[in-house]
Amino acid sequence: MLIYLHIPFCHRVCPYCSFYKHTPGSTPIPAFIDALIAEARQRIPQSGNTPRTLYLGGGTPSMLSPAHLQRLFAGLSEIIHLPSLEEITLEANPATFDLEKARLFRALGITRVSLGIQSFTPHVLATLGREHTPQQAASSVHTLRQAGIPSINIDLMFSIPGQSPDDWLNTLQQAISLQPDHISAYNLTYEEDTAFFDSLRRGEMSENEDIDARYFHLAVEKLTTAGFDHYETSNYARPGHHSRHNQGYWQGHDYLGLGPSAVSTLHAIRSRNVPDTAQYVQRIASIGNAITETESLDAPSLRIERIALGLRTNQGIPLAWLDAPALQRAHHLVSESLAHIQNHHLILIHRGRALVDPIAAELI
Ligand code: SF4
Repeated sequence: MLIYLHIPFCHRVCPYCSFYKHTPGSTPIPAFIDALIAEARQRIPQSGNTPRTLYLGGGTPSMLSPAHLQRLFAGLSEIIHLPSLEEITLEANPATFDLEKARLFRALGITRVSLGIQSFTPHVLATLGREHTPQQAASSVHTLRQAGIPSINIDLMFSIPGQSPDDWLNTLQQAISLQPDHISAYNLTYEEDTAFFDSLRRGEMSENEDIDARYFHLAVEKLTTAGFDHYETSNYARPGHHSRHNQGYWQGHDYLGLGPSAVSTLHAIRSRNVPDTAQYVQRIASIGNAITETESLDAPSLRIERIALGLRTNQGIPLAWLDAPALQRAHHLVSESLAHIQNHHLILIHRGRALVDPIAAELI
């Protein structure tokens, strides 16, 4: 089982971000951490599964102070045998930690830090509302390495308004030159309830599939040439640095999400915690859980999800998951050089990898 912990705090809110997050304001952080620990203590044994990976996401978990991180890990270590986990990831933003704090990450057992850099172009960072500079981003990678973090991921983003092909190329080259172990390169999406979505609706921003495909292919070309394995639509790893936690999601493993807004899927039941930090803390204290939505997933819905996620990976999906019309379509994809079939699996290739969402929609 994969364990996800949602830490909803950010210094400020980026205009494209749809995750549940907020500035800490007057949130009593120790009470929040105690609620997370209490939820873990209750739900991990209840799940009947053994934890394999731990992922602290958000939000900006690296914003937690050393004392708060120590409190959280001390609590977790009473519930989970942390050294047995295959991977412990912490999401971090540049300039939210120094060498001392990065050494604490390592001392707490964190094996992987995922750094939200997004771009090395100052005007693109400004459009994204990011607080850090390209220099701070580079220096944060060096700090993590100096602290001995075994695996470092850099998150990048493309198809951002005002980002030229040269800006994207420069960002890719700077990222490669820092020699991270893993790079995630995401196409900007306009999610509802974000400032970017409102700008799109007002016609101040626009989407362009041709630009998306061009930037996607630029990333594939530069990163695979630099020795990264393109193992999922948006993810590239050096040998031995594929994200175990994320691979677990794509392979349909059970996951337990703790914290406000966190989603879980356990034994084909999907549930979601209340997306409100104050209510989360209050519910955990009063009734012991914060689940406000539950849904049973039947076999057809699970199959659809597995197809959509599996097609994103370089393992593809077993042909046995496809019905007769989808199988026929799969053979067309092969004849159009968008996919190949290997060991009875359909695997997207070349342009097919950029078209994963429409292809998945056709096959399900
Ligand atoms: S993108 Fe990251 S830093 Fe920005 S608001 Fe969202 S969670 Fe916070």
